Amino acid sequence: MRLPDPHPRLLKDLLEGEKFYPIYNVHPRWPIDIDYDVSDYGETWFAGLPRGQMWDSASWYEMPKQPRPIPEIIEETTKTWWPKYEHKGVPRGEPTIQVDFIRWETWCGGWFDHWTHDIGLDDQQVLHSFSRFVMRMEELNQREVKIVNGYRQEAYCLMGAEDRHRWFGRIKGKGDNDQTDPPCRCPCCKKRGIVNIGH
Ligand SMILES: [Zn+2]
Repeated sequence: MRLPDPHPRLLKDLLEGEKFYPIYNVHPRWPIDIDYDVSDYGETWFAGLPRGQMWDSASWYEMPKQPRPIPEIIEETTKTWWPKYEHKGVPRGEPTIQVDFIRWETWCGGWFDHWTHDIGLDDQQVLHSFSRFVMRMEELNQREVKIVNGYRQEAYCLMGAEDRHRWFGRIKGKGDNDQTDPPCRCPCCKKRGIVNIGH
């Protein structure tokens, strides 16, 4: 599958030595058995399911160094993520995994953090790169406002990264009182070959 071209704004914004990658959203959903009524929740919670079941789901971004065929990502998620996914004993059906190419970018969003591949940029370059990424996402949110059920929904949730004072790194990579100046180059990040910024 041919991917769309990167946004011209990204190409214009790139720093010396900076790289961009394909971002995919991975969205598995699966039916779970329930013993309560969800008919008030809205159709998307139970569409296509018999009474006594509703949809559960997960969603995250992936940013491989090179484009990957979507069926390959689906197969890998089914084989490696799904068997390990904690379901606390709730009876569940087989997952349907949807994978979408989102855009080309330099940073991948996680849960109140962002990461990028460590390609040898120094701390100043990494911070510079991230602040430009944040600016592009803020512009994207101004360009693409979505209204869902009457509420304004941002096209991209920065989870507080807009506020530079929130950015931090870690020393050991886990535990309390483990924050240091950004970016994060802790042993966990080193092992994964990434640089992280928490916020
Ligand atoms: Zn780290």
